[in-house]
Amino acid sequence: MATDPSPGLFTLIWRGIRKVCPVCGRGKLFRSWFKMRDHCGVCGYSFEREEGYFVGALIVNIAVAEAWFFVLFMVVVIATSPGVAWGPLLIVALVTNGLLPVVFYPYSKSLWMAVDLAVHPARAARGGP
Ligand SMILES: [Zn+2]
Repeated sequence: MATDPSPGLFTLIWRGIRKVCPVCGRGKLFRSWFKMRDHCGVCGYSFEREEGYFVGALIVNIAVAEAWFFVLFMVVVIATSPGVAWGPLLIVALVTNGLLPVVFYPYSKSLWMAVDLAVHPARAARGGP
């Protein structure tokens, strides 16, 4: 099976966005929205990681939710100032900050794996961690 031995960061990020194997770019990472596969069905790369590995994905997920809230807050405050629409802002912020981490969950894991593989390319050669 021919796979790119050292995909670049943008290729890895693109694979993370598509939720496919960071090594070959073809095998799917997830069985369902929350359930990750054990290994790649195409190249055999192991998706199993040591305990605590996906804390980085959690940090990515929280950072995206916080960034979203910051953008939302700034846009609403600037657009409605001086009579800031605090009520609608609160409702939209609560709803979106509740849903975004759930929607972004698999992407946070796949993007974390992609960035990790960019930093530790030897993992691909070993077939996993
Ligand atoms: Zn693969």
